[in-house]
Amino acid sequence: MAAEKNEGVEKMEKVVSLCKRRGFVFQGSEIYGGLKGTWDLGPLGVALNNRIKSEWWKMFVDGREDMYGLDAAILMNAKVWEASGHTGAGFCDPLVEDTETGERYRADHLLKDVGINADGMALPDIDAAITANNIKSPKGNPLSPARQFNLMFETTIGATAGPDGKVYLRPETAQGIFVNFKNVVDSMSPKMPFGIGQIGKAFRNEIAPREFLFRVREFEQMEIEYFVKPEDWEVQFEAWRVALWNWFDHLGLKRENVQEFEVPENDLAHYSKRTIDFEYNYPGKGFDELAGFAYRTDHDLKSHMNASGVSMEYIEPDGTRFIPHVLEPSFGVGRALTAVLVEAYQEDEMNGEVRTYLKLPAHLAPYRVAVSPLLKNKPELVEKAREVFSLLKKEFGNVAWDDNGNVGKRYRRQDEIGTPYCIVIDFDTLGEENPEQKDTVTIRHRDTGEQERVAIADLISKLK
Ligand code: ATP
Repeated sequence: MAAEKNEGVEKMEKVVSLCKRRGFVFQGSEIYGGLKGTWDLGPLGVALNNRIKSEWWKMFVDGREDMYGLDAAILMNAKVWEASGHTGAGFCDPLVEDTETGERYRADHLLKDVGINADGMALPDIDAAITANNIKSPKGNPLSPARQFNLMFETTIGATAGPDGKVYLRPETAQGIFVNFKNVVDSMSPKMPFGIGQIGKAFRNEIAPREFLFRVREFEQMEIEYFVKPEDWEVQFEAWRVALWNWFDHLGLKRENVQEFEVPENDLAHYSKRTIDFEYNYPGKGFDELAGFAYRTDHDLKSHMNASGVSMEYIEPDGTRFIPHVLEPSFGVGRALTAVLVEAYQEDEMNGEVRTYLKLPAHLAPYRVAVSPLLKNKPELVEKAREVFSLLKKEFGNVAWDDNGNVGKRYRRQDEIGTPYCIVIDFDTLGEENPEQKDTVTIRHRDTGEQERVAIADLISKLK
């Protein structure tokens, strides 16, 4: 078990190092020593991230008749967060401080390390559990009593500070959907059941950001609120459960690395009748939340209706009125990106050498294909290769031009960033020695290293 964990930690370190070396993910504000809990996406990271988001949008919004898209503002009226409960204890984590260094830790995490589940525990019980188990800070010093710490980032809007100017950076995208429920119903006249999907940034002042992109202070979410008639929730819950599994398959995650965790009834939020966390087996960490899926009854719409005085009722064609119930599949983009990268990370031996490659699904890979001339100092090869490059670039967009070093090195480089195909234009392409090979190129396949000869005219259909 320990060996497996060490192997996992080592794998994660290799992935993090590849991410930095090859331009996927950089530490936020790195040249100033970084800013904890923030990461910047490099050229290949943003490509992969965008692909995850666009595939999600294709599957869950464009791909369905019952879904609508939305892009709400990050800054919202503070009353939104009062109505949703985020300004209260519901969105706090229990915080303890190292009494000597002042460093802060999540009390529930320290308790989890000794096998105690502190979800929903009152502060005095947390203190008692810390004392009973003689828990010290990771630096070995005594801990302060626990207190609740709200995770929302506060800021002020406009020129004058004061209670009226107080706003929060949204800690989730979901509330933007609820407050626009009436707008979407009035403008689109959707039929029940229907959903609204949104992708956007969310911010949480996490006490202990850690584990690469897993727990950060600024991240992206892809969230759906699916509105149903109250009596239909169970049928729809099952349908969405299948849809979520399809999504994880589409990301290329092996089924054995994804599991459902049914949140026990006594740990459910008071308004939720059922919640499943979809967990991924992160190397060195084990199974932990990748996405959440909750049945939230009519809690959110009702809370906003009561707080704003605006009706959130849906009116059926026959005049029946009711407040819809909601199912909420909620995905973190960064956790998906991490899962995709570690799932794809492979090491094998090719031509007597150890090689590292990312076995990314072609629909997610930053580059679909790389094009190169066999030799970069032969203008006729370069010209022909440029022609092929332009043809493919026009069709696919994400096509790399690579003429650095020898062909073997180029393959290795493209393998490491997950490019599924490399195309080389050689003298046969020009038809100088073998006229029958004219206008054919070599395609080399990332996973097997196999090469085949394909006519330029067939390239687009071959790579699709
Ligand atoms: P956790 O229990 O891990 O803190 P959560 O249950 O608070 O997560 P939700 O509020 O359900 O998370 O948010 C939905 C999704 O947003 C999560 O499944 C996760 O993928 C992502 N997410 C939430 N908090 C963070 C964070 N601090 N960093 C990165 N992703 C996050």
